Amino acid sequence: MFVLIRYMEKRDIIIAIDGHSSTGKSSFAKEIASRYGLIYVDTGALYRGVTLFAIRSGLINNIGVTDPEMLYSQLHNVKLRFGQALHGSKGELYLNGESIETQIRSLEVAGKVSIVAALKPVRDFVDSILKEYGVTGGVVMDGRDIGTVVFPDADLKIFMTADPKVRAMRRYREMVARGEDANFEEVLKNVIERDFMDENRENAPLRRAQDAIFLDNSNMTEDDQMVWIEKIISEKWKNLKKN
Ligand code: C5P
Repeated sequence: MFVLIRYMEKRDIIIAIDGHSSTGKSSFAKEIASRYGLIYVDTGALYRGVTLFAIRSGLINNIGVTDPEMLYSQLHNVKLRFGQALHGSKGELYLNGESIETQIRSLEVAGKVSIVAALKPVRDFVDSILKEYGVTGGVVMDGRDIGTVVFPDADLKIFMTADPKVRAMRRYREMVARGEDANFEEVLKNVIERDFMDENRENAPLRRAQDAIFLDNSNMTEDDQMVWIEKIISEKWKNLKKN
């Protein structure tokens, strides 16, 4: 008797990694992409890019977006693209030809991005960029709504979380390592506020998709996580080779 096995092509694969802020989604997604020769897409970076544009255009203050209509009408001037990924690092994000990778990681952008990401026209704008990657396929994407809204039919969905204090400490250490003047309490406040805003917004709120595999990495190292995901991937795609 013949058993028909449909071999999964890499270009067919979409892996969606959603979850809370600062759970290490992007490092995890990037490492999976690098091990299996897939493309990594940092969807949060795109929301951060739009937020930086709004700040620079004077369209946002501490309370919120001052002129949403003006922001929407300017979105066609926001040309976001990722540069080439080199030596295992993810490609930098460019805004109208300028590398903005450092600027989008600032606490100022982190403090405003969830306000901008809650706006429907901004979500539609970012989704249209993300859908293009879906056509190409062979991607690992991390974000908040990838498995629920952007790619509800993704082949593999992971939902990541960790204790807020653990997450804030990781973010704080990264900032200190970059030589930034970080304050743990401020970072923790930002993490908690972003979770709240992401989970409670009207448009594409952060939710665990029903078919997403849950990962709480509070007490896991990055190596533990990779062992965990490699087991899942090798069971799901027996022919998917590592690089
Ligand atoms: O992942 P990162 O922390 O860089 O995302 C920044 C912010 O962008 C999140 O706090 C969230 O408000 C927003 N975001 C989103 N949907 C995504 C990715 C990010 O709303 N798919």
